[in-house]
Amino acid sequence: MCRHLGYLGPAVPVAGLVGGPRGLLTQTWAPADMRGGGTVNADGFGVGWYPAPGADPVRYRRAVPMWADASFASLAGAVTSTAVLVAARSATVGMPVVETACAPFAEGRWLFSHNGVVRGWPDSVADLASTLPTTDLMTLDAPTDSAVLWALVRHRLRTGAAPGDALAEVVLAVADRAPDSRLNLMLTDGTTLAATTWWHSLSVLAGPDSVVLASEPWDDDPLWTPVDDRRLVVATAGTTPSATALG
Ligand code: GLN
Repeated sequence: MCRHLGYLGPAVPVAGLVGGPRGLLTQTWAPADMRGGGTVNADGFGVGWYPAPGADPVRYRRAVPMWADASFASLAGAVTSTAVLVAARSATVGMPVVETACAPFAEGRWLFSHNGVVRGWPDSVADLASTLPTTDLMTLDAPTDSAVLWALVRHRLRTGAAPGDALAEVVLAVADRAPDSRLNLMLTDGTTLAATTWWHSLSVLAGPDSVVLASEPWDDDPLWTPVDDRRLVVATAGTTPSATALG
């Protein structure tokens, strides 16, 4: 499984979001709450950020461990943004370790990440994938479960679905076909952050003018709140995130 983190709030350096005693960088080699889904998150990583309000995001992804990329360390200290999505990947057995399989996946203003696995992939969700336009299937980011999930979410966003609705619909459709899947999804447009919990960890840290959703807390701040399983969380900076039951 992987680890991911989404942030909305005042502009901060990316380094401040991945640091911390148990931050995402540490979680790449010493995650605390993988729930039996892998050991380290060393099969690549990615960060997406919004360079200016209203601008489409910029991405930086690599197929190496986050700790091994000296360029990321320097970039993370220099890049500041009001909206960031970071992900570290632990590839599921049989799936390729390539840059294009690393989250965040992106289109237009959207950034997307998946933390988990689709059981029985690809057969279990082949019928669901067949509902996508053929060109979407021909241009998948990578031959992985996460890329198919992104294509399913993106298809719903293109037809006008709200971010939370798009995630919920895809989680329920996949879980129906592949019940033991782990489907922690995360999606942002730079203003709204939506995420699901489906058999994996997620915590919220809401400040007066910011919000963080992360697979694991980056420190011992008692304000971190775990999200119950099978929830959809929708958050904006400075408001209390709402969590609703899925399914
Ligand atoms: N199934 C995912 C992959 O191989 C596993 C990584 C993750 O948790 N997103 O890409």
